[in-house]
Amino acid sequence: MDLLVRGCSQLGLTLSEAQVGQFRLYFDLLAEWNQKINLTAIDDAAGVQTKHFLDCLTGLPLIREEMGKAARLSRSVRAIDVGAGAGFPGLPLKIVWPELKLVLLDGTGKKVRFLQEVVSALKLSQVDVVQGRAEELGHSDAYRGQFDLVMARAVARLNTLVEYLLPFARQEGYVIAYKGPGAAEEFVEARKAIDLLGGEVVRFAPVEVPLLEEERRILLIKKQRRTPPQYPRGQGLPRKQPIV
Ligand code: SAM
Repeated sequence: MDLLVRGCSQLGLTLSEAQVGQFRLYFDLLAEWNQKINLTAIDDAAGVQTKHFLDCLTGLPLIREEMGKAARLSRSVRAIDVGAGAGFPGLPLKIVWPELKLVLLDGTGKKVRFLQEVVSALKLSQVDVVQGRAEELGHSDAYRGQFDLVMARAVARLNTLVEYLLPFARQEGYVIAYKGPGAAEEFVEARKAIDLLGGEVVRFAPVEVPLLEEERRILLIKKQRRTPPQYPRGQGLPRKQPIV
């Protein structure tokens, strides 16, 4: 995990031996399960360390800066990763931020079983792995408006994604979306939806992932108002007919 350790130091993060061990085990399980089920196109050691682990951790300094005291690593923040897939970005953040109370949500059973295996093998506490659709859980009292931090990477275009994510955030809570090239165009499309759903953009920043020369942007939204009750819409509408 040398690349990970080097990249983390560029992000101002020092990993303990135990944390490095957790990342190593996570990588081993990812590579093993990826032979049987399609979890990710990237499962080589260098790719996983840079394009998955470091990519996900690059959001942490921004989260800390924007959330200020609330995101101090000692305080327990409630977070949900929507469409977590193989655990990104939620699990790398949880490993370096052990106090995080995390829900990993995904619609696919196979991925949920993988996530359960990783959570148990890494002995992570305060992580709930949930199989379900964002459009449905976003209307459940146990999830709607309950989270300080709502995150997603590679789940949908922004105008669809914000309809999945903003309902989960509490007022004054944050949504963080990890995006690649093309994000500027998506951002323009999504501005109206962000406003309608109660969000206010606090940052849309290009970020440099350590040891990776690829374009990345992170969108950080603060929830200022309640999301109108009809959102998220069902029947696939957030994808088929995004808010315009
Ligand atoms: N976030 C991970 C990452 O960055 O590697 C996984 C990305 S994968 C391309 C998208 C994941 O989102 C899939 O695992 C899929 O099952 C899940 N997903 C897509 N739409 C969803 C929805 N509406 N509710 C829950 N999960 C969803």
